Amino acid sequence: MKRYEPPAGWTVQAYRFVLDPSDAQVLGLRRNTGAARFAYNHMLRRVSAVTTQRAAEASYGVAEADLTPWQGWSLPDLRRTWNEIKQWVAPWWAQCSKEAFNTGLANLSAALGNWHAWRTGARKGRRMGWPRTKRKHGRRSARFTTGAIRVDPGYRHVVLPRLGRIRTHESTRKLARRVKAGTATILSATVTETAGRWFCSFQVAVRRTVGRPAHAPKAGRVVGVDAGIKHLAVLSTGEMVPNPAPFKAALKKLGKAQRRAARRIGPYDPQARRKRTASNRWQRAQDAVARLHATVAAVRADSWHQLTTRLAQQFTTIVVEDLHVAGMVRNRKLARSLTDAAPATLRRHLGYKTGWYGSTLHVTDRWYPSSKTCSACKTVKPKLSLAERTFRCTACRLSLDRDVNAARNLAALVRHVDLELPGDAKTGRGAYVRPVRPACAGGAAGREASRPVHPVNVARQRTTANQESPSLTER
Ligand SMILES: [Zn+2]
Repeated sequence: MKRYEPPAGWTVQAYRFVLDPSDAQVLGLRRNTGAARFAYNHMLRRVSAVTTQRAAEASYGVAEADLTPWQGWSLPDLRRTWNEIKQWVAPWWAQCSKEAFNTGLANLSAALGNWHAWRTGARKGRRMGWPRTKRKHGRRSARFTTGAIRVDPGYRHVVLPRLGRIRTHESTRKLARRVKAGTATILSATVTETAGRWFCSFQVAVRRTVGRPAHAPKAGRVVGVDAGIKHLAVLSTGEMVPNPAPFKAALKKLGKAQRRAARRIGPYDPQARRKRTASNRWQRAQDAVARLHATVAAVRADSWHQLTTRLAQQFTTIVVEDLHVAGMVRNRKLARSLTDAAPATLRRHLGYKTGWYGSTLHVTDRWYPSSKTCSACKTVKPKLSLAERTFRCTACRLSLDRDVNAARNLAALVRHVDLELPGDAKTGRGAYVRPVRPACAGGAAGREASRPVHPVNVARQRTTANQESPSLTER
């Protein structure tokens, strides 16, 4: 499908609101999201059946022209077939919005397209298998792209096709005022259910003025940010942002909730080793677990958003590391606390927020030894264990918090390179700048001793490093 390209000066972003639907509206939401699932599953089974049937016929030597007609999986193909058969397979179709069925068909078309692209080598990355049918109790969602999609001028309701006016838990003022002023156009609305809560997410084209908002104070020019576990982030200014570790905080409650669910009659009977109908009490216990997880995710997202918005607004240049989180998670001792902190979020958020606020994001090389390098004299230590929380330089006797040292190294990386390479303000993409390695540490990412830093760079860094930072805390 063709991507929507916003006009110059406009950017596409989402506005998401928690809904407060009435009981009747919940039924409507479920009906429409269920219709999306039904269309997806039905057409997926049809495509699978046609494919196997044709393969079987071909194996009997049936001529190409006499084979069962091919079922294409482009969106128009799927839609054409669906409209022909819907009165037979879904006689209730008129009760739902056509957009609901279209959601399922569009998702199926994309899923099959991904599978095909992976098989033919056009798509890189993780293996894309043949799509699986969607489960009844999975995540419910439907997307509306046409019809009456509005935010109510009273700021407390959204209007969706076939579903009507639904009250929101929070004010829609920020979006409604933009729409009224003509600086925002709603492109589509997606309703989803997460842990018993309904959300409406508007995809909106917004005309943004790129730059620092008036209310945000200017904190400095360059900042290095070291994302970690003990602290969510440590800035080169010396600030340490605490890690709420929401999953760790919820562990006890989660354990209790999960034990309660385990005592109730679930969908699997361990004695008979077969499926059974789960009890309502089990379902309620399961919902409680889901709510805990939703809270954990919300707390985590909020702390990252607060930090990254502040960074993108208050600094001109932000330097972060290219973290190989997927690889680090393989360390079983780190996996839980690492996923709880979700350090890769830093770069993902900054990637688009720097585009919004006119700042620049710098991503260093994955192998740049930010922790092992001394931020004062640039000597690279051959080895630094994770347990060493304080960086002690053997050459210049600097003693500094390990993460502050790393953050300062990151900030120092860009102080003497030209970095007028802002991200694309329109899409928020492309803020990614490939390796800046002025002080090449001779492959010191490994365990072996590193060779000294290039003398010219040392001189330049000595004169420029830590200009904006407070004085070193030498002890
Ligand atoms: Zn040193």
